[in-house]
Amino acid sequence: MSFQKLGLIPPLLHAIDDLGYENPTLIQNRAIPLVLAKSDLFATAQTGTGKTAAFGLPILQKLRKVDTHNRILKAVILSPTRELSIQIFEDLKNFSKYMEIELAVLVGGKDIMSQQRTLKEGVEIAIATPGRFLEHTEQGLDVKNVEILVLDEADRMLDMGFAKDIRKIHPLLPKKHQTLLFSATYSDKVRKLSKLVLQKPAFIETSKKNSTVDTINQIAYKVDTARKAELLAYLIGSRNFEQVLVFTKTKASANELFEELPKDGLSCGLIHGDIPQAKRLKTLAQFKEMKIRVLIATDIASRGLDIEELPYVINYELPAVAEDYVHRVGRTGRAGRDGEAISLIDIYEKFDIKDIERVIGQKIPQDVVEGFEPDPNIRRKDVDEVKLKSEHKKVEKKERSYNKNIPRSTKSRNAKKRKTTKRDSK
Ligand code: AMP
Repeated sequence: MSFQKLGLIPPLLHAIDDLGYENPTLIQNRAIPLVLAKSDLFATAQTGTGKTAAFGLPILQKLRKVDTHNRILKAVILSPTRELSIQIFEDLKNFSKYMEIELAVLVGGKDIMSQQRTLKEGVEIAIATPGRFLEHTEQGLDVKNVEILVLDEADRMLDMGFAKDIRKIHPLLPKKHQTLLFSATYSDKVRKLSKLVLQKPAFIETSKKNSTVDTINQIAYKVDTARKAELLAYLIGSRNFEQVLVFTKTKASANELFEELPKDGLSCGLIHGDIPQAKRLKTLAQFKEMKIRVLIATDIASRGLDIEELPYVINYELPAVAEDYVHRVGRTGRAGRDGEAISLIDIYEKFDIKDIERVIGQKIPQDVVEGFEPDPNIRRKDVDEVKLKSEHKKVEKKERSYNKNIPRSTKSRNAKKRKTTKRDSK
């Protein structure tokens, strides 16, 4: 099926052509006709499947007739993070470059007054995080003509505590409007929300429940906690990864890595909740332009990162929530391209990886890297702690943090050298 056959209008076809999209992805093939036909939609689609165009193109087509003297807000797209909202805004700007539609992005952390000025000048589409959108409605934003509501990454919005805001926004909209709900996972919370906001929806499932993208090669390397940073630097260096996204579980370990990796000559960027938005966007741009080699990110901050042809994702630490694994590795192998997701797992993550395997319904092959084999002595001692933890759930989190008990002098500074270095504990 071509974009033309999906019934898209010439200004959109030109814009798609400029972007170099040749054929619609699966979700686009299925969603575009349904959205054009005014159906409510429940789609399970992960990032990287082309879902932004799947809702963006038909929405733009439906709103194509614009009164430039009297612009009316007709579509609202809610997403969990500032980055994702900005990414959607940029995508829609590209798709609508031959149209007269105006868009606004309304996200927290940015000046609300300037957003209000943009709204006053008139827009047809608002792309927003739920909290900031609610603020605008409380300050008088007129939503009574909204025809389409999109809840993008709905599962993530719920995980981030936006359920309340969405429940407040929903009744403000006209009774009759079209709602499109996209979610990477199909959790009970999402199902509940869908019952509230959707009417007789069409269902699209583009992948198995919570399954990871097929084109991604997944591997987990077993390693001792204290040697994770070394192994990370070694893998990046020895395998010549030129652009790699590294996930940590906490801001603290992201900060530590950000200090550590440059000592191995690796240029790094850092994205987490404490980094100001402007800095995050600058870092992301530098990463995209390959001015920095490694982007270190936490889960929440990484949502919405759109990086084309990203070949490698490394889980320096497994995520706290198993479903986040799907989101993380969705950053690679995007839109049908090959990708590789590497997880570095220590003894403490032995059980976490099993949770992830249950969620994705696949086994993740495990291996060791020569020279980084886990120390069996450490293993036995730690297994007891892990067992204790799962029984009593009270092993201190701090103990799990990276490299905490290793004296700095034992850390090698050279990844190549590290491979032959004897274990720190010996
Ligand atoms: P998304 O899932 O919307 O974040 O899209 C993932 C990536 O795929 C983005 O970089 C898009 O620009 C790209 N993309 C979306 N649709 C297509 C398509 N039909 N052909 C090629 N690339 C696409």
